[in-house]
Order: sequence, then C-alpha cells, then structure tokens
Amino acid sequence: MRIAMISEHASPLAALGGVDAGGQNTHVAELSTALAADGHEVRVFTRRDAPDLPELVQLDNGVAVVHVPAGPAEHIAKDDLLPHMAQFSQWLAGQWSHDWIPAVAHAHFWMSGLAAVHAGQLTGVPVVQTYHALGTVKRRHQGAMDTSPPRRIGYERALGRSVDRVVAQSQDEVAELIRMGVPRGRLSVVPSGVNERTFAPDGPAVPRDEGRPRVLTVGRLVARKGFQDVVRAMQLVPDAECVVVGGPPAAELDTDPQARQLRQLAESCGVGDRVRLVGGVPREQMPSWYRSADVLVAAPWYEPFGLTPLEAMACGVPVVGTAVGGLTDTVVDGLTGDLVPPRDPRALGMALRRLLNDRVRRFAYATAALDRARQCYSWQRAAAQLTAIYGTVSGVRQPSRVVA
Ligand code: UDP
Repeated sequence: MRIAMISEHASPLAALGGVDAGGQNTHVAELSTALAADGHEVRVFTRRDAPDLPELVQLDNGVAVVHVPAGPAEHIAKDDLLPHMAQFSQWLAGQWSHDWIPAVAHAHFWMSGLAAVHAGQLTGVPVVQTYHALGTVKRRHQGAMDTSPPRRIGYERALGRSVDRVVAQSQDEVAELIRMGVPRGRLSVVPSGVNERTFAPDGPAVPRDEGRPRVLTVGRLVARKGFQDVVRAMQLVPDAECVVVGGPPAAELDTDPQARQLRQLAESCGVGDRVRLVGGVPREQMPSWYRSADVLVAAPWYEPFGLTPLEAMACGVPVVGTAVGGLTDTVVDGLTGDLVPPRDPRALGMALRRLLNDRVRRFAYATAALDRARQCYSWQRAAAQLTAIYGTVSGVRQPSRVVA
C-alpha cells in the first residue's frame, strides 16, 4: 500500500528534546519504518524548515521524507504554523493528483489533519487522524498560558467528524475525544509502540556512581512535563541523584530559561548538588541513559501518550509516574511501576523513596515492565493494526464532510 504520513512540524529527521520535537517525531519515524518493513511504500510529508533541505530524502529503511514548501524555509514555532497549512495542503493535493497517489493519508497532529482533509477532498485520498495532543486538554491545564491558535478546539472537533477514522492512543484519549464530540463509531485505539531492538536491557549504559541510586527523568523542558515536581520530590529521596535528559544541547543549557529555572529551584530546595541536567541527547543514546537508571520518573501534569515510560520499561527499568493520559494504560500500578497523582511532589517523593529502598520490588517491576513492553507495545503490532484500518478506509470510502 502507498501510505502518506503527514507530520507538519515533527520531522522524523529532527533532533529531539527541543521544545517542539519529541514523541510525535519518534512515533512517525518508528511507525513509518515498521510499515516499510512490512512492504508498504511510505512517504512522510513534513514542512521544509531550513533552506538547505532537499525536496525528497530517501532513507535506508525504505521510508522517504518529503519536505513540503509551506511558509518560509526556517524554524517556525508549532503554534504559529496554522497560516501556512493552506499552502501545505495545496502542495499535497498537487503531488497526490499526479506524481504519487497514496491509498491513504495518516495525519499526525491537528494541523496536519486540516492539510490532509483538504488535500483528500481535492484528490479522493482517505484520511486517518491521530491527534497526539488535544486542545481541550491543553486549555484545561494551561488556561491563559496556552499559546495554541484560538480556534484549535473547534478545528479538532470538526476534524473528528470529517476524517475517515480517528486513531486514539489510549483509553483516556478515547474518553476525551467522546467528550469533545467525536462519534465513538469513528474511533479506534492503537497505542504507540517501542522499538524493542533499540530499547532493550542489554547494551551499554552511561557510567554512573554505583554508590548512589539514580532517578532518571526525560523530556522536553516544558512546564507540563512536571520536572519541577520531580526536583521538589528529590527532597524526600536522600542520597539519590536525579538526572534530567532533554532540552537544548548541553552547551546551551546555561542560557536556556527553563533549565536555569530548574537549577534555581534545585538550589532553593537544597538538592542542587543531586540534580544534574545533561541537555538533549540524540535518540540513539537514549537506551544507554535508561539502562543507567534505577528508576524512571515521569511526572507530567497531563500526557497524551508518553513514550519515555515505555522506552524505560523496554530497557527493564521500573517507572514511577503520574496517573494521567497514556501512562494509566502503559504503567500497571503495583505491577510494572507506581502511579501517583499529578502535581504532588510529596506523593512522588514517597513513591520514589519506597521503591529505591526495596530492591526486590524494583526487580519484580522491571521484569513485568519488560514483559509488558514486549508483549503489548511493539511497532510491528501497531503497524499491523493500522494496516487493517488503512485497508478499511481505502476500500470502503466514506464521504468526508467538509471542514469549514
Ligand atoms: N528524546 C530524545 N532525546 C532527548 C529527550 C527525549 O531522543 O534528549 C526522545 C525520547 O526518547 C522519546 C521522545 O523524545 O522518544 C519524547 O516522547 P514523549 O512521548 O515522552 O514526549 P513528547 O515530547 O511527545 O511530549
């Protein structure tokens, strides 16, 4: 099958850890690779955000990345991309009419969805939508701090009724989508996966001080990832070190506002000497960071899916997480890790301390976590489930309704 992946801001070729580069980039890259390995012809359409990018990059894994000219060829913050989506969709429609006609388009994030639905209407290509994040949830948690375009929620609702199928990544997202007005009959659940060859217990680990327990936390340095709660929680976990992976490269940490804030907080909590920011690291290095840890902590306020807990689990590392979003599916409380309420540094600290003091429990969690990651979250499994969905929508064409 010819499959078009639309990922307007999140290129599979981007360096991760920056403000707008994280799980969606990984998801699109891994899913496309798994589909290509099954014999499908996959092209990822992403916005051209640098002048030197060639129009088409053919990767060794069989996936091609197409850089779509839409707006200036420079970095534009995700929340400022909407005005360029019309150009993006026109360009897609041009390609899909003549050069390369896909059987299905899978759009990632709502703006990709808008571009894909419009191009789909012009060309007859059916559209599958994965939101990755929802405006309703963001607004609820961030209120006035939410920098999304004002009409995002309305567009997302309209998209849910216009595309041929919506693919949610967790049961929590299903509930959110239904609350938002997306008909249940248009929804399927296919969780993200984890690459079990890359993320495995065996392999090199980043050197560490063996005498000091290591708590690892990973992600973009944005407030909602809850790193401040993790730093506060460290007050209840004496002797342990906290390693934070993510954000700009190490050399830029000193001037990064979020990194400086975190360091200041750590100093004022009296844990400055036990909290270490290492900055963003390339994806290939992530497994060795996970393997170096006794426990991964993921403390988001909300989280559409959350790849980092799953990556840690696949490396045989237990997780202490907040009971939000996708984590309530991936982490089984009391079996593969512990779940605590969000924004509660005390609960987080107590859970961490208990786990770090209990070697047997850590071993049991690690074993169950590894088993769960392998059994339930392979990319091959996700690719097979999505192929079935692609087959359904491209065979039985439902009339798409127009997004105004
Ligand atoms: N990641 C990375 N380098 C970093 C920080 C993160 O490669 O320095 C990767 C991480 O391994 C994961 C993704 O970025 O694959 C983050 O995904 P997640 O779903 O946890 O968060 P999101 O960024 O989507 O909010």
